[in-house]
Amino acid sequence: MQTPFYLIDKAALRRNMEIVARLREVSGAKALLALKCFASWSVFNLMRDYMDGTTSSSLYELHLGAEKFGGETHAYSVAWAEHEIDEAVGYADKIIFNSIGQLERFGERAGGITRGLRLNPRFSTSGFDLADPARPFSRLGEWDPVKIEGVLDRISGVMIHYNCENRDFALFDQQLGRIEAEFGSILQRLDWVSLGGGIHFTGEGYPVEALAARLKAFSERFGVQVYLEPGEAAITDTTTLEVTVLDILENEKKLAIVDASIEAHMLDLLIYREAARLPQEGDHAYQICGKSCLAGDIFGDARFVRPLQVGDRVSVRDAAGYTMVKKNWFNGVKMPAIVLRQEDGSLTVVRDFGYEDYRASLS
Ligand SMILES: *Cc1c(COP(=O)(O)O)cnc(C)c1O
Repeated sequence: MQTPFYLIDKAALRRNMEIVARLREVSGAKALLALKCFASWSVFNLMRDYMDGTTSSSLYELHLGAEKFGGETHAYSVAWAEHEIDEAVGYADKIIFNSIGQLERFGERAGGITRGLRLNPRFSTSGFDLADPARPFSRLGEWDPVKIEGVLDRISGVMIHYNCENRDFALFDQQLGRIEAEFGSILQRLDWVSLGGGIHFTGEGYPVEALAARLKAFSERFGVQVYLEPGEAAITDTTTLEVTVLDILENEKKLAIVDASIEAHMLDLLIYREAARLPQEGDHAYQICGKSCLAGDIFGDARFVRPLQVGDRVSVRDAAGYTMVKKNWFNGVKMPAIVLRQEDGSLTVVRDFGYEDYRASLS
């Protein structure tokens, strides 16, 4: 099969989904897939059996969730435009406004569905300001309890997204305690609370049962339906980016150029200055480099048992989250196809991209 392609392993996806299902069952919480992290809809038929629906960050994600996933469809956007709101309400069963201003402007037009507001607790687990909803001057949600209490007659729930790849249950427990203490009088008057995404409960060794018990206690204390909005946790470690070595150079290090680009095909790694997850076994070290002309188009350092040759296949792990949704046409580099590894081991190409797609992306 011609590289480059993203390879989604359905057996690995099902393993994650079984953890989601267990968490839902024990905690009573509902789980919605956050489409901004992963929107490869050809596996939604598998995920649908384990999750309650989707949540979104724009009209198009919302449309895709309604069309391709179904179930409960939450609509969220940092700001809705006048020309979007009626269409958005048509797809959603719940709409979560980012601000009281948007609730006041559009709340009546969403009167036929459930309405909520984003609450910003002004703390988070994010260590990187670019992705920190609690950063100074944050526009993500309302934080003043007095103002929020003033609109409680118009909403039945809130969404609080403040975790970011949080692997630490003790920290989650402690911060949820802070939310209970600081916003308890609001929570008591609501029917539902979404705790957003960013809880890494499918990671190795995560105490899923303790999380479930904590969510159940929260739900019972305030009499609310809890929602979780996993993105990364739903698809972590299910997908690889498969590439082929095109050339080998040497400049103090051995350099292997592959037929993909970190800027175009795994952009998040570049933004957050993280290395790709590459093979690390053996004595032969190479820097794995992308084929765009960006000087820093580098996947990272890898090790192999044998010296690499032109034509060798390299597999980049954990390539689903915030990756396939961000691929782009920088340098006109061929976009990786999307391939499924079925549970019987066979491979199915579900999407390939060609020159026509590149041309159609511009005008
Ligand atoms: C990004 C986001 C999510 C998903 O976050 P993950 O870290 O991928 O789990 C969920 N809800 C909201 C509101 C978000 O912005």
